[in-house]
Amino acid sequence: MNISKDKVASIDYTLTNDQGEVLDSSSGREPLAYLHGHGNLIPGLEKELDGKTTGDKLVAIVPPSEAYGVRSDELLQDFALDQFQNPAEVQVGVQFQVKYGEDVHIATVTKIENNMVSVDMNHPLADQTLHFDVEVMEVREPTTEELEHGHVHGAGGHQH
Ligand code: ZN
Repeated sequence: MNISKDKVASIDYTLTNDQGEVLDSSSGREPLAYLHGHGNLIPGLEKELDGKTTGDKLVAIVPPSEAYGVRSDELLQDFALDQFQNPAEVQVGVQFQVKYGEDVHIATVTKIENNMVSVDMNHPLADQTLHFDVEVMEVREPTTEELEHGHVHGAGGHQH
């Protein structure tokens, strides 16, 4: 079976940046299982996996535009400290999820001054070219429930 829309694929992967530093890896864990064609992976990696089958190995080099995007100054914003639910927990370096526009962003506090908090909502991996070393471990049909939810259940997928 080949990876195509609505198939469930399990992959072992190692993610490195341009400097060769390992950012993430499935090593020592269950392979990552995902539902193909539903935006569960970054677009550039899904594209490379399309058509592959069990046992295939590939190296995918994904530019920022097909990964976590290009840094944008629009995503640098200041908020009043009292707008935060738990002002006491707001410190430089703290990361949290924030809904901004249509999307949920990972925001990092970069500065706190005069009760104003400067926040960087660019993804921590924005601007980075990502190198994926991938082996396809399994390709299978999804269950009806997985298709309905748009993601994989069980080992390597969602637990709920
Ligand atoms: Zn589900």
